[in-house]
Amino acid sequence: MTSSMTPEKIPFVDLQQQYQSIKGDVDAAIAAVLQRGDFILGGDVAKFEEEFAAFCGVSHCLGVANGTDALKLALEACGIGPGDEVITTAHTYIATALAISQCGATPVLVDCEPDFFLIDVSKIEAAITPKTKAILPVHLYGQSADMDPILDIAKRHKLVVVEDACQAHGATYKGKKVGSLGDIAAFSFYPGKNLGAYGDGGAITTNNAELADKIKLLRNYGQRVKYEHLVKGGNSRLDTVQAAVLRVKLRHLADWNLGRANGATMYGKALAGTTLKLPRIAPYGTHVFHLYVVRTKDRAGLMAALDAAGSQHGIHYPIPIHRQVAMADLGYGPGSFPVAEEVAPEILSLPMFPELTQAQVDRVAAACQGF
Ligand SMILES: *Cc1c(COP(=O)(O)O)cnc(C)c1O
Repeated sequence: MTSSMTPEKIPFVDLQQQYQSIKGDVDAAIAAVLQRGDFILGGDVAKFEEEFAAFCGVSHCLGVANGTDALKLALEACGIGPGDEVITTAHTYIATALAISQCGATPVLVDCEPDFFLIDVSKIEAAITPKTKAILPVHLYGQSADMDPILDIAKRHKLVVVEDACQAHGATYKGKKVGSLGDIAAFSFYPGKNLGAYGDGGAITTNNAELADKIKLLRNYGQRVKYEHLVKGGNSRLDTVQAAVLRVKLRHLADWNLGRANGATMYGKALAGTTLKLPRIAPYGTHVFHLYVVRTKDRAGLMAALDAAGSQHGIHYPIPIHRQVAMADLGYGPGSFPVAEEVAPEILSLPMFPELTQAQVDRVAAACQGF
């Protein structure tokens, strides 16, 4: 690249490039749905559910409208509602907590740990009260929470475990895929996720046939047979067009996750000499790098250096759940979750997508070295 040319911007994610690589299959899959006209709970939905269940290593998968609904319906299917408490992490996307509120229950927060930014399992038991019904661990940034101690606590206190797997499609914990570890799990297919639709989408996975059956009713007006409504369900279905897109993309997910892991390895080498604290992979599993999150005391400086180098960046997330205005009613004051509060102003997400090149990594790294 000569100095007279402006280098191309480095996007945070590159969905257009990915579309070009699968355009033929995606266009054909969408055209087939339009031709058949089975737009609602059509053939591709059932086939995608089967294929995604197999991918996760579970017996049941139900497509729903988005990841937030997936969490909400999973909680509802477990019988969680008003008066109940659900334990989750203070360091997550707001949707995790909103889904708990939406089903009428109260989110009870626990701090994250400083190494992987995942729920601090050593602090879960102290948060349990007689009202606690579930633990909702989040597999944040692309790696699993430490599930064995969580499942052990849940068993001893007779709690349900609902996984928020919205950022970790394909990640493993001790050889098992996320989505197969708790009683039930929620996935998002928001376009930027590791498996993303071309619009909103979500899914619930479980090995429990009874829970799967409840989800089937809850997502479709509470009906098994048309116009016979057994429970007060709602409308939260995965569109057939999106399922058709997801079936095409699912065939590439394992490769794309490897591309992300490769990008993380490249970053690891290129950033080794910098002052940045780099992401760590927990010894118990694999990381699918939905996000590549570094930590620095001078985030403003790092952002300015990346801006100058033409690289996009993000913050996931700048405000912990308990400091959000919408969650003020939970009654947590500043200082309630010191690790989450210490981490929030120091984290920055670098560009991460499966097609990330060495040249792009080198440009980002040069900016990180110079700042
Ligand atoms: C994306 C996401 C959600 C919500 O998914 P939507 O499809 O956007 O509703 C929930 N939890 C986490 C951790 C997420 O990253």
